[in-house]
Amino acid sequence: MDEKDEDLGTFDPNIPEEGPSAPPPGWLDDVHGYQGHQGGEDDNPLYPPPPAYNPTPELDRNTLVPNVRVPTVSEDVARDALLKYVESKWKYSSKPARNLTFKELRPVTVYRYRLETYTETRTSSWQYESYTGQPVDGPQFGVSPPPWDIPVVLPERFTERVEKLRVPHSSFVKICHKCQGCGRTRCSNCLGKGQKRCFSCHGTGYRNRPGNHKNSGRTRCTFCHGRGRKRCISCQGQGYKTCSVCDGSQNLLHFILLTVTWENNVEEFIPDRQPDFPDKKFEKVTGDPFFVDENVLVYPIQGFPDQEICAVSTTMINQHLNNFSSTSRILQQRQTIELVPLTHAFYTYSGKEHSFFVYGTENKVHAAKYPTACTIL
Ligand SMILES: [Zn+2]
Ligand SMILES: [Zn+2]
Ligand SMILES: [Zn+2]
Repeated sequence: MDEKDEDLGTFDPNIPEEGPSAPPPGWLDDVHGYQGHQGGEDDNPLYPPPPAYNPTPELDRNTLVPNVRVPTVSEDVARDALLKYVESKWKYSSKPARNLTFKELRPVTVYRYRLETYTETRTSSWQYESYTGQPVDGPQFGVSPPPWDIPVVLPERFTERVEKLRVPHSSFVKICHKCQGCGRTRCSNCLGKGQKRCFSCHGTGYRNRPGNHKNSGRTRCTFCHGRGRKRCISCQGQGYKTCSVCDGSQNLLHFILLTVTWENNVEEFIPDRQPDFPDKKFEKVTGDPFFVDENVLVYPIQGFPDQEICAVSTTMINQHLNNFSSTSRILQQRQTIELVPLTHAFYTYSGKEHSFFVYGTENKVHAAKYPTACTIL
C-alpha cells in the first residue's frame, strides 16, 4: 500500500505554524512620543533633540591661544634615541650611532589639532518577553515620558557607554501573536503530522534486494521496520513544538526599550610641515597638549601663529555641529592643540652625511637610511 503523506499522523489546523517571530504590523498600540516603530527589530532614532539641549554657538566669538616655545632635543637625547632604535633592528650596528658626529639638530614645529565632540543619542524599539506573571508597568501608572525626558545617570565626560532601559509605563500584556495563545506551533518539518515518510524505502515499507540471490526480491525495510514512516525527529513525534516566541507561556509582555549611547567623536589634523617625514608616524606618539579648551560648544581658534590650525578648527567645529546636532545631543566639546616634538638630526659618519628624525614625547626615531657598519678601523 502506497500511503500518501497527507494520511500520516494527526494534523491540528488550530495550531499556528512556525516562522518569523516579529509581531504583525498594527499588533501593538502606539505610545505617544514613540510612534512609528513597530514590528521591526531596528532601533528607531529619536531626534531631533529638544532645542533646549542644543545651545547655539556664537560663531563670532573666538578662542585665543597662548604662544609656545618649540621643543628641542639635546645631542645626548638624540644619540640615545638612535641607539635604542638601532638595537631594535637586528641588521643595524650600533657602532655608527655611538661614533657619529652631530652637525645640526633642527627642531621642526609640528602642531596637532584635535576636536572631540561628546554626544548622547537615544533610540527606541519595541521588545517583548514571555509573560509569566511578572509586574507590568503599564499606562495605568501614568503617561510614558518623552524619550529625552527619561532620566539617566551620565557617565564620566568623554567616556563611551551604552545603556538600555524600559520606558516607564510602556508595558502591556497581550496574547502571543505567534501561537495565538496556544503556547505551541505546528512543526514545519513534518507539517504537524508527527511522522515523516521513510526516505529509505520511500514510504513503501519494502526494499528490493539486489542480485540473483535466492532471497532476492522484496524485503521489509529495516530502517522503518516496514512501517513506511519514521517519527519526526524535529518534534519528537508530537507534530507541534513549544512556541519559541512566548516559550509556551501563551502571553507576551511588550515594552519600549530605550537605548542611550554616549560617544566621543574624535578628529585630528596635523599640517604637513616636513615632507621627508611620514605624517602617519605621528599617530603613534603623544605630544605636549599646551592648549586645552573645553565647553558645551567650543569656538574656532583665532590668532594662533599657525593659520592652518585656525582654519581647520573653524571647519571641524562647523562640521561636527552639522553632523551631530541634528541626530544627537552634544553634551561637551574639547579642542586640543598639541606640540608634537620633531627634530631633524644631521650627522656625519665615516666622512658621509646622514640624517634621522626624533619625534614624539617618547623620542621615537625614524631613519630612512642608516650607515652600514662595514668600516673597519
Ligand atoms: Zn515534526
Ligand atoms: Zn522504510
Ligand atoms: Zn507563543
